[in-house]
Amino acid sequence: MKFLVFIFSLSSTLAVGQIDCVNCPPLSSVPLPTVTLPEVLPSLIDIKKVSYQRRSSVKHCKRPIDLVDTIVLHHSESSSQNSPQRINSYHLDRGWYMGGYTYLVNSPYRGESTPASVVTEGRPPELVGAHAGTDAYVPMRPKDKDAWNAGQILCGVEGGQFSPDSAELIRTKIVGGQRVEYMKANVTTIGVSVIGQYFGNAPRFQPTSNTLDMIAKLICRLQKENPNMVNLRVHNNYHPTDCPGNLGKASNLSYIVQKAQSYGCNFSSIPGHIKISTRINP
Ligand SMILES: [Zn+2]
Repeated sequence: MKFLVFIFSLSSTLAVGQIDCVNCPPLSSVPLPTVTLPEVLPSLIDIKKVSYQRRSSVKHCKRPIDLVDTIVLHHSESSSQNSPQRINSYHLDRGWYMGGYTYLVNSPYRGESTPASVVTEGRPPELVGAHAGTDAYVPMRPKDKDAWNAGQILCGVEGGQFSPDSAELIRTKIVGGQRVEYMKANVTTIGVSVIGQYFGNAPRFQPTSNTLDMIAKLICRLQKENPNMVNLRVHNNYHPTDCPGNLGKASNLSYIVQKAQSYGCNFSSIPGHIKISTRINP
């Protein structure tokens, strides 16, 4: 943690004689100020930006980023050597607008030295992602309803008109005689995917401390930028899938949360293979 302390000292010879100020005290009697600038937030980890191909005719949605309270952890279920652009291509092949994850983490498997460790931005954070599952919905909070009613959550295609799209994003369910509104979990979450395959017992599929630490640094950086992001979840909290494999183990999640805490962040986490009770099938 670095504190930048700038001490501004004014030399008494600094142009004093040239200031025409009749009532001002002579500069030499003014105490020299010591200015402590606010601590510069540590960036923790750099996030690389790259350009991606997109299917411009495919509908996608936008949301205010401050609605996002949850980071959902994934693995890409592919080679660890893949680039984020390659993952983007896989998702384009599914007919999607672009890659579904908001951030992608490259990190070597245990015992390997490549690929280089790097975090890359995927789908821009202000866009609703495609990662938690099309059947994953969560109850709308008052702030979600406010944003929805204010027309801040909109869907459309590139170059076209964006508008509220309840068929795309909203479901209702009667719970205990009450009508409860749910919103697609992708609206209030972002997806962080570790590129690789982390399911199985082989040693290489057990994440290294470096990989877990990269995740901790990334999520802590995101929380410092957006304090609403307080939940760490895994894909199979939302959807019946093996994703994110061993990354979702309780021991690994608690390692990530503790590391993030050491960087000044607080997260709650739920280990993998627990289906959240709020999930509904549309
Ligand atoms: Zn996943």
